[in-house]
Parts: sequence; structure tokens; C-alpha cells
Amino acid sequence: MQRRHLLCCGAAAAGALFTGLMAGGRALAAAGPECAASTLPPALREHALLARCWEGLDPGQLWDVHTHLLGTGDSGSGCRIDPRMTQWWHPVESLRRRVILRGACVAEDAPSIDRAYVQRLLQLAADFPEGARWMLYAFDEALDESGRPRPDWTCFHVPDHHAAGVAARHAQRFAWVASIHPLREDALARLDAALAGGAVALKWLPGSMAIDLRDARLRPFYDRLAASRLPLIVHCGEEKAVPGAGREDLGNPLLLREPLRHGVRVVAAHCASLGMALDLERPRPRPVPAFDLFARLMDEPAWRGQLLGDVSAVFQFNRRAEVWQTLLRRQDWHDRLLHGSDYPLPGVGPLYRLGGLVRAGLLAEADRPVLEAVRAHNPLLFDLLLKRRVRWRGQRLADPVFATRRHFERGTAPA
Ligand SMILES: [Zn+2]
Repeated sequence: MQRRHLLCCGAAAAGALFTGLMAGGRALAAAGPECAASTLPPALREHALLARCWEGLDPGQLWDVHTHLLGTGDSGSGCRIDPRMTQWWHPVESLRRRVILRGACVAEDAPSIDRAYVQRLLQLAADFPEGARWMLYAFDEALDESGRPRPDWTCFHVPDHHAAGVAARHAQRFAWVASIHPLREDALARLDAALAGGAVALKWLPGSMAIDLRDARLRPFYDRLAASRLPLIVHCGEEKAVPGAGREDLGNPLLLREPLRHGVRVVAAHCASLGMALDLERPRPRPVPAFDLFARLMDEPAWRGQLLGDVSAVFQFNRRAEVWQTLLRRQDWHDRLLHGSDYPLPGVGPLYRLGGLVRAGLLAEADRPVLEAVRAHNPLLFDLLLKRRVRWRGQRLADPVFATRRHFERGTAPA
């Protein structure tokens, strides 16, 4: 991407999203869920596929581990969106904003975008049984090497207190995930506050926030994470449209060795399923699929109790069929794979094209119209249903993938 400086980042995390935007062109501004429909029509609600979706699942264990919170700060939340996203003379950015808001069913002229975003999430959650919950992500600013905030690298900012506040107001549906840049002067104090405030994990997007996991200054932070058993969710793999600080090399899955060696429990977001990364462990490093490096770490016995991967976004059209097949085939990983939606992405027009999954032999053609109808009403339910339906040679994502809550209860060892 040449226009790096314009392609700033995504709390919407969004390598995938932005790849989709670039690929899908302008028609997608019009694509998206049917926002007016508040609940699933009875014919869909009672459909056999949906009934089967819940067989073997305990809704009380079903935590969506990857849900983005977004806002403009119009409710005093402290959220920010880079001004370039609203300016017509930055057409790429404003298209991106429109597409994201459309995917989240937030009208541009909503009295409060902050509140409308949360309302829509609650509305979608109402189609799920009691007990199911969503882990809402805060998103910290980018800081440079010396710990100075870099607003020019920060396209979205969602402060911890906003995520914590939304989760507290709707505790039956939400939990919250803190985001703290470890080079902040008061990073440890913020981490303690997040722990005291009930955060269930911490999230970093290294390439966009400019966090080098190898930086020796992060050790006290790792020690505190390890002692508290708070999982660290790290975005791994390529950020195609290069968000924020533009350091995609920092998303190399091999860098996870550093927090792992310090005893931190790590969740690799999206199982590093997009793009290439340098295999730094060869005499002559060369680019390989980032997913292969994630797989290498998953297969090392040392990290069996510490390394997890979330399956959010992995069935989007921009992943390779080989990634899909591997994730379904590796039943020995399934106890360490975690369901997540990457909301609002399941509602964003071009990112899910079921034809690709059908052609790759992962999805039955007969499932497609039902999935598409569910998606039009409830992208979150669509995302879950899709993950329950995909199969490769008779193997599917096992039920433990959807029993995620157990990984986020501190003080208890993962199963
Ligand atoms: Zn994400």
C-alpha cells in the first residue's frame, strides 16, 4: 500500500477489514445487515440448523473473546476516531468509517454514536440464550519508543474506563478487555487498576500501537501479567493496510516467545491466519505464512498450558483454504482455540463470501441460504452458526472451542 500515511489503523482491527475494503470497492458501502430488523423472524429462529447450533453448547461458557467497541466520544466516553475518517477530502478514510458504522448498524446521524453502537450490540445479544457474553475491547493509543503518545498513528482510541463502564452497566452480557501501552509511564498502575476493575484480559495490536514484544522494558509488565494470570491477547499476522505505526514486523507470531517465556498466558488473535511473516529462526530468515509460525508455537510442548488462539475472522474470504482445513483438522488444538467474532466485521459487506467455503468443500451449499438469511438479521449469530457448520472431511470445530469462559477466570488453571 503506497498511501501508508492515509491508511491509518483500526481498532476495528482491521487488517482484514481494510483488505476487504480495498478488494470490495465502492459497492460495499451499500452492503450490510438489515439494521431495521430487531429480532430474528420466527421461521429462522425455529430453523433446524439453529437448533443444532446450540446442541452441545453451554451458553454460560460461550464468551465471544473478540468484540470491538467503537465510538466517537459523543457521550463523554473519551473514545476518539481519527478526524481523517470524517473528512470528505480523505475519501478512503471516510468510506472506511461509513462501512464500519454500516456494519455495526449505527446511523451516521444517530444522536449518539457511542450509545447507538452499544445498543445495537445489546439488540443482537438478545437473540442469544442467557449466559452468553461478549468481551469488549478497549484500545490504547500508539506511543513512540520514548513513550510519547502519537495521535498521528492512532486512528481509534477506546479508553479502558469506557469499556469497563459499558461492561458494568450490562454485566449480564458483557465483560471487558483492557488495553494499555506498556511504555506508558504509569503502565503498571494502569494494569493494577484494570485488574481491580475486573478486566478479563489485556489486548495489544503491536504493529499499530508500536509495541515490540522483545523490548526489555516490558519485563516488569510481563511479570505482573504472569502473576495475575491475566491473558494477553495479541494481534498477530499481517495488517494488510497497515494501521497506525505501520510496523507489521511487530505482529510476527515468533515474538510471542517473549511473553510466553515470562510465564504470560497468550492468546494469538485470529491464529495469525493472515499474511506473511519472517521466519526469524532460520539462518537466513525468509517470509513464510504467519499461520505456519503460529502452528510451530502451538506444537511446542512448553506452551501447551499457556498459548491459545482465537478463531475470529478466520473464515473470512481472505484466508487460505489450507488455514481453514488445518484449523478443522487439528482436533488436538481445539481445547486451545477460542471462539470470537471480531465484531463488527461479521456485518461488514464483502468479508464473508460463503461461495469460497462451499467451493473449498467446507460448507454445504444447502446451508448457504440459511446462513445468509441469519446474517441479514444478526451478524453475531451468523458468525457462530458458520463456525458450527464448517467441516473438513467430517471434522468440525469441537465444542470446547465455544466454551471460552474457563480461560478468563483468573486463579484457575485452563483445562
Ligand atoms: Zn479484531
